[in-house]
Order: sequence, then structure tokens, then C-alpha cells
Amino acid sequence: MKILIVHAHHEPKSFSSALARRAETAFQAQGHSVDFADLYAEHFNPVSERRNFSTVKDPQYLKQQTEEAYATEVGGFAPDLEKEIRRLESCDLLIFSYPLWWFGMPAILKGWVDRVFAAGRIYGGPKIYEGGLGQSRRRALVLMTTGGGPDAYGGFGVNPSLSNVLAPVQHGVFWFNGFLPLAPFVAWSPVRITPEERAKYLDSLSERLRTTESEPPLVLPPLADFPGWGKDTKKRFMVTATRPKPMDEIFKSHIPAEQAHLAEWRRLGLLLEFHMMPPQAEPWRAFLLFRETDATAVQKHLATLPLAPWLEFEITELAQV
Ligand code: FAD
Repeated sequence: MKILIVHAHHEPKSFSSALARRAETAFQAQGHSVDFADLYAEHFNPVSERRNFSTVKDPQYLKQQTEEAYATEVGGFAPDLEKEIRRLESCDLLIFSYPLWWFGMPAILKGWVDRVFAAGRIYGGPKIYEGGLGQSRRRALVLMTTGGGPDAYGGFGVNPSLSNVLAPVQHGVFWFNGFLPLAPFVAWSPVRITPEERAKYLDSLSERLRTTESEPPLVLPPLADFPGWGKDTKKRFMVTATRPKPMDEIFKSHIPAEQAHLAEWRRLGLLLEFHMMPPQAEPWRAFLLFRETDATAVQKHLATLPLAPWLEFEITELAQV
């Protein structure tokens, strides 16, 4: 497998850089070839402007996508950009390695995306989503450090949830270009943990990277579900699950399997949201938002839940407003 690590940290001794270098050595030890794009060390210029091109389609008005399409036709990308585009085109696994800055990528990495994912050459026309460069075959991974801890990004925290923070990368860059996003690897608050805890992060990264070729990626909706790029052809169903009887020991013993089931539905994009009352509440209820074709399909999914025999379900179709 050819792996491209695009790394964006200005300090080679940082923990973010240590993670990126650990990824490089772990992949090499597995026999993969690794291209390490160290954006700061290579003095990558992230500013997108006329110097992206050696050709000019319209000298009066700079429209990036028009110039990119023209440069694609005539081979007119500037040599520094052409080099980066080829790196992207030749990878099987794309890794973005960066510290979280302002809930997003550092500007140098955002600039790499702005310049390298060029219209015509990389995306556009049929080349988006499942038809994009990744062809629903190549994979992509975020390797990120943060300042805030997991509670701050866990859905009930002061910040947006991790999946919302990462949507511009996972959906907007990876999946928009046909790369299958893997679950992100996040080293939470490395500044505030012990050296031993940081060492554990490095080891768990090596372990995790053994499965990048086989682990099931996150499933985001295909373009085919949105004819004419209109609204989703799949519907939304709100399920209210009620537990009529108090929780007993058998019920409790099924909870881990139930949680694994829900996590898999989330990965598959079937379950968009899950909320529940505190476990001891009587009567207890949970609320599940599904993306599916019809209520019968939802019913079939619910029947597979380990706790289904203990629960009653009410399925309500929601309007597309
Ligand atoms: P470092 O400070 O480089 O490393 C932490 C510690 O690890 C250091 O003591 C270092 O010596 C040690 N270390 C290095 N290598 C190793 C090794 N091999 N083994 C063990 N220890 C090692 N945070 C948020 O949560 N949200 C934001 O929106 C956000 N916005 C930011 C915007 C800006 C402009 C900046 C500058 C920071 C922002 N932050 C934000 C914080 C930022 O995400 C964290 O500071 C960063 O992710 C920490 O990772 P680091 O690699 O830079 O840590």
C-alpha cells in the first residue's frame, strides 16, 4: 500500500510530529511505502493564487476552478503544485496529521487542500463522492492532537462534538473526493498528560495502524441517494423505545452488546442520533433517529437488537422540512 502522510506541525519535537513519525515507521515496518509530506519543513506555500498555474485562461479575472480546469487540459499546473497533486493521486491511504486549530486544520494544511484538490484534475463532473479520486476504495485517516479533552467534544461539552468538528475533513474533503474515512485517531490534550500516557498513545497508534487496510470505514451517504443533488431519497424515522419492566440482571448483561450494535449502525450511517433517559428512570425511554427507506426496514433493524425482547418500539416518519 502507498501511504501519503500530510503533516502540519511547525515543531519537529512536538507530540503531533512524534505521532506522525510513529505512523511512518509503523507502516514501513509493515512493508508499506510511505511518502511523508512535512508541509512546514518543505516550506509548502499554502496561498492559492495565480502562481498555482504556468498557464492563463483568463488574464482579466482569476476564477480558480476555471484556471484549474484549463491547467488540467494543457498540463499547466506550476511545478511545486504538480508535485503535490501527483503525491495525492498516487496514494492508497491518505493521512492528515495535525493539531486541532480553531476547530479545524492549521492554515498550511487547509492551503494544501485548497491548492492540491484541483477542479478537473482531482474533482468535478462525475468525479465527486463515490465517483471521486478515491473511487470508494482508497482510505483516509485523521491523526490529530487537541488542547481540549474528550468531554469538551463528547456531545455534551462546551465545544461542538468531534464528528461535527471533523465533518469538513471527513465528509468535505475525504468522502467528497471518494476516500473512505476511517475512525479518527485523536490524542486528547497531550500537553496535560504524563509522559507515560503519551507513550501509551504512541503504542496504541502503532497497534491501530495494523488494521487500516481491513477495518470497516465510516459510511457516508452516496451521491446516488440525492438525484440532481436534491433532497435525500432516504427518509427519517424517529423511534421511541420504551422498557415496560424495570431493568433486571439479564437486561444489564446485554447492554455492552446493545451498545456495540448501536455503534455499528452509527458507522453505517443508519442511526443518525441516539438519546436516552438515565438508565434507572421508570418508565425508561430511548430515542433513535434513523435514515432509511421505509418503516419496515427500520422495524427489521430493531428486531436485531440484543435488547429487542425487553423493549417496545414506536416508529414515526418525520417530514423533510
Ligand atoms: P506539544 O506541546 O508539542 O506536546 C505535548 C508534550 O508532549 C510536550 O511536553 C512534548 O515535549 C511531549 N512530547 C513530544 N514528543 C513526545 C514523545 N515522543 N513521547 C512523549 N512525549 C512527547 N485546541 C483545541 O482543542 N481546539 C482548538 O480549536 C484549538 N485551537 C488552537 C489554535 C491555535 C492557533 C493553537 C496554537 C492551538 C490551538 N489548540 C486548540 C491547542 C492545540 O490543539 C494543542 O496545543 C495541540 O494539539 C497539542 O499538540 P502538540 O503536538 O502541539 O503538543
